Amino acid sequence: MASAPSPSSSTKLSVKLLIDTKREKVLFAEASKAVIDFLFNLLSFPIGAVVRLLTKNQMVGSLGNLYESVEQLNHTYMQPNQNKDVLLKPTSLISSSVISGLLPPNDVLDSPVNVESLKFYTCHNKCSYVTCKSGTSCPSNDYSSCIMNSQLSFVGNIPVLKDVSSTNVNGFVKDVVTYMVMDDLVIQPMSTISSITLLNKFDVKEIGLLEERVVELGMEEGINLLKSSLQSKTVLTNVFLKKPVKK
Ligand SMILES: [Zn+2]
Repeated sequence: MASAPSPSSSTKLSVKLLIDTKREKVLFAEASKAVIDFLFNLLSFPIGAVVRLLTKNQMVGSLGNLYESVEQLNHTYMQPNQNKDVLLKPTSLISSSVISGLLPPNDVLDSPVNVESLKFYTCHNKCSYVTCKSGTSCPSNDYSSCIMNSQLSFVGNIPVLKDVSSTNVNGFVKDVVTYMVMDDLVIQPMSTISSITLLNKFDVKEIGLLEERVVELGMEEGINLLKSSLQSKTVLTNVFLKKPVKK
């Protein structure tokens, strides 16, 4: 189960919805850069991380079973140099502090790698393998029981990792316009002309039946957005109109 939203750490973003009250449907949303970054960022998630976030029994297809099979397969069937966590807890290199609060804190998705905090280990036989997990079996075939628990000292820095965490702090899109998000997650920059064209396209005859409503996008909605985007073409309607009314 995904962890419960914690008010202290969660990010809340505002989204303005244009709702057709007669058909109870979200026509589109006006969203800020942060919301668009959150949505775009969903594409960077490894599938294993999505299954983990939504939990196995929330997956509509068979990916939940695939995930569970990996979990349950005895490690003796795995290649000695492979770790099931590569599949069960895959890493996404993309991270943004602005939007990370919209999904449960997840060591997998959110924490930028702090190179200084990493420890490296090799074996006593100097087989030239290195790991970050002390006690890992050395994959070398030259010795029968070769354990990697001899700590190495790291010097210098790893420019690639540092660049990844710093360049993505600002997300993906520029903060110069408001963006328009359709119910089916088609996204484009907002303009007055496009909203009028849309009202025609949606065949809106009575403007009086339209309602503007500002809603909050927090962790609960973030998870629901991810889930609904995998299953539906009416994502915003599902997440913001069909949920049980609180207050
Ligand atoms: Zn060794």
